Amino acid sequence: MLRFHNTLSGRVEEFQPMIPGEVGFYYCGPTVWNYGHIGNFRSAVAADIIRRYLKFKGFKVNHVMNITDVDDRIIQQAALANQSLDDYTAKYIDALWEDFDALGCERPEVVPRATRHIPEMVTIIEKLLDKGHAYKSDGSIYYRIASFPSYGKLSRINFEGNIAGASERIDTDKYEKEDARDFALWKEPDSDAEPSWEASIGSGRPGWHIECSAMSMKYLGETFDIHAGGVDLVFPHHENEIAQSEGATDKQFVRYWLHFEHLKVEGETMSKSKGNYYTFRDVAAKGYSGAAVRYFLLSVPYNKQLNFTFDALAGAEKTVASLRDFRARLSEAKTEPGNNEELHEAAERALKEFEAGMDDDLNTSIALAAIHNLSREVNTALARKKVKEENKRELLELLTRFDTVLNVLGDQQTELLDSEVQALIDERQEARRRRDFGRADEIRIELADRGIVLEDTKDGVRWKRK
Ligand code: AMP
Ligand code: ZN
Repeated sequence: MLRFHNTLSGRVEEFQPMIPGEVGFYYCGPTVWNYGHIGNFRSAVAADIIRRYLKFKGFKVNHVMNITDVDDRIIQQAALANQSLDDYTAKYIDALWEDFDALGCERPEVVPRATRHIPEMVTIIEKLLDKGHAYKSDGSIYYRIASFPSYGKLSRINFEGNIAGASERIDTDKYEKEDARDFALWKEPDSDAEPSWEASIGSGRPGWHIECSAMSMKYLGETFDIHAGGVDLVFPHHENEIAQSEGATDKQFVRYWLHFEHLKVEGETMSKSKGNYYTFRDVAAKGYSGAAVRYFLLSVPYNKQLNFTFDALAGAEKTVASLRDFRARLSEAKTEPGNNEELHEAAERALKEFEAGMDDDLNTSIALAAIHNLSREVNTALARKKVKEENKRELLELLTRFDTVLNVLGDQQTELLDSEVQALIDERQEARRRRDFGRADEIRIELADRGIVLEDTKDGVRWKRK
């Protein structure tokens, strides 16, 4: 029985989708003002584990991940670079997919962009104005929190007193509001130079929260099963999404809310604003593979804090290598016909433990422990030549099945020849000469994935095998 901790009830609950066998799942995706850091990817990997495990359990999954391609930071950076919003964000959207691929995250079924859904946002804002949940002030439009009595039901924050500035991401809008808690749905541009959209509600640009209400309901319906994101989003982002969506439809918006704990660095949340972050590119440049970063990020259950250190990453690299070795040894083992009952039971036990761990609010530590126990037992049996043909087939199939969720074993790749490494390095140099840094990065990441570390020296590029 699959169970999730639902932030809305504050309890672990059995998961039952609205439509048997099908799940609608929305994940608050990245703001593409820059490269994502590996904290962001902890959340992306956690969302990937949700989708993959739901599929493992036989559900058909409709996974939607938005891309926030308009916000204050993007507007500011695009203006500095003298580029349109689309031109500015294109590079970071490409980078996002490269990082997604390197980290073994499957593409969600739908990846809507905020700038492509302005009419849907306007429709909701019109409804909120009609129903008295929103008001205009100085050309902008605000949500009237006093009109939504259950505001606060997700975060259970006590709203006594003035909370403006209580959260890093709270809207401290400068215009006139009826109440300090009210937040912007639609913002009047500060100047003619600022990007804005013409709409029935006036010319402006959307607030951040409205995009997720509009895009989730468009693709998943007014009520859907799962909504997830990092813990920083519980308040105000998700609280505001509930107020907007339920205010507009009078229906329950989301049935299960899942929130991922943050990746920390020395006890502090990894974030761009704190400056204590690494992008995936930073760690790949130090020679860590996508699979190791993924393993590190998923090695601790999503609802537990995880501390980033390079030692931990190096440990993950070794563990992934040992799991890959285990599979290689097993698949190369010469076996006799037959079935060793003890090993058959070990395989069944591992599957049970894996599933029990994942069913229990996606406890990846227990799931991984099941695999490590199995690998110890089978390694011993391999050394004693006790693995039979039937066991080998069953165990290899089981590893493949586990890996549909974990995705750290990779394809069984052969080692790159020296000449192949050199050809890729030459191609990378050529790409850099063309200033095609996207392609150059791609090659470096591919090489890192295959165990090749590059070092740029003044005499050219040196490489070694890890
Ligand atoms: P953003 O690009 O800031 O909109 O964030 C994209 C996703 O990453 C959101 O779901 C955030 O909650 C999540 N996130 C941001 N920082 C961290 C962190 N240090 N650890 C885990 N998730 C994070
Ligand atoms: Zn969102």
